[in-house]
Amino acid sequence: SKTDLTHRISFYEAEMERAILERYALVQDLGRALDLGQFALHYQVQKCVATGETVGYEALLRWRHPREGYISPAVFIPIAEETGHIIAIGEWVLRTACAEATTWELPHRIAVNLSPVQFINADIPGLLQNVLMETGLPPERLDLEITESTFIADKAKALHVLRQIKALGVSLSIDDFGVGYSSFDTLRSFPFDKIKIDGCFTRDAEHSSEARAIVRSVLALGRSLGIPVLAEGVETGEQLAFLRIEGCVEAQGYHLGRPAPMDRKRTAIALAG
Ligand code: C2E
Ligand code: CA
Ligand code: CA
Ligand code: CA
Repeated sequence: SKTDLTHRISFYEAEMERAILERYALVQDLGRALDLGQFALHYQVQKCVATGETVGYEALLRWRHPREGYISPAVFIPIAEETGHIIAIGEWVLRTACAEATTWELPHRIAVNLSPVQFINADIPGLLQNVLMETGLPPERLDLEITESTFIADKAKALHVLRQIKALGVSLSIDDFGVGYSSFDTLRSFPFDKIKIDGCFTRDAEHSSEARAIVRSVLALGRSLGIPVLAEGVETGEQLAFLRIEGCVEAQGYHLGRPAPMDRKRTAIALAG
């Protein structure tokens, strides 16, 4: 009936209004989160598939919100990108990750995620130069994880920036490989040192022959281009065994270690379980 519809519409309007207000509050809070020290980095281990050795850690951002509790980066990174807060937050991530890595007992690699918005709007080579100097982290220990969406806007400029980054001695990984729409072109056009195959393929490999075929072809591609492949999202021993048989170089996932705060005293063993 008509009143029913009217009622439903006003219900949706109220819901929408609440969602907008909630988002507004979140945007406000995000703007202060850095100054209030609400961010932290967790680290997830990256291992050599053949030997099981730890080769590095990926820094993953965490926001401890005073009222909402822990908020996932999948929720707040997009907001930080829209509002521009990602520039300052991304700087904090890079500086903190590099500084913390210098305190580790072993000189493992530290992988840091770079947002496309950061890449396009900030002077990343300049920032890297400062942070490496300030922290004293050897550049070869730093690995930047970049997604394909970074290159949509201006390919020539992106290539120029990537070359500047490589000239500093920092390495580059292409993140979430396979879920984009121009993966091959990206690999051909930009100087990547590693391919991170998206977790969705790793997870499905156990049950889907299509996913297994895709993983195999990315591994073959990596081999013929001379670029090592890391498989993300390894959740089971079966998945790891498959990757070992297929000659995948590195792996990361809950089966190898969950993201956790770094324990300075027990660095290497802290995240092994
Ligand atoms: P990502 O870079 O692809 O990171 C991998 C995500 O998968 C992380 O989620 C990680 O906790 C999760 N993961 C790791 N192993 C497994 C597994 O075995 N199974 C499953 N289901 N998931 C696994 P997280 O930490 O929630 O981060 C989500 C995304 O947020 C990241 O995806 C990245 O795109 C973004 N992000 C995180 N930290 C930063 C940061 O410092 N800067 C930027 N720009 N983005 C970040
Ligand atoms: Ca990543
Ligand atoms: Ca990824
Ligand atoms: Ca992702």
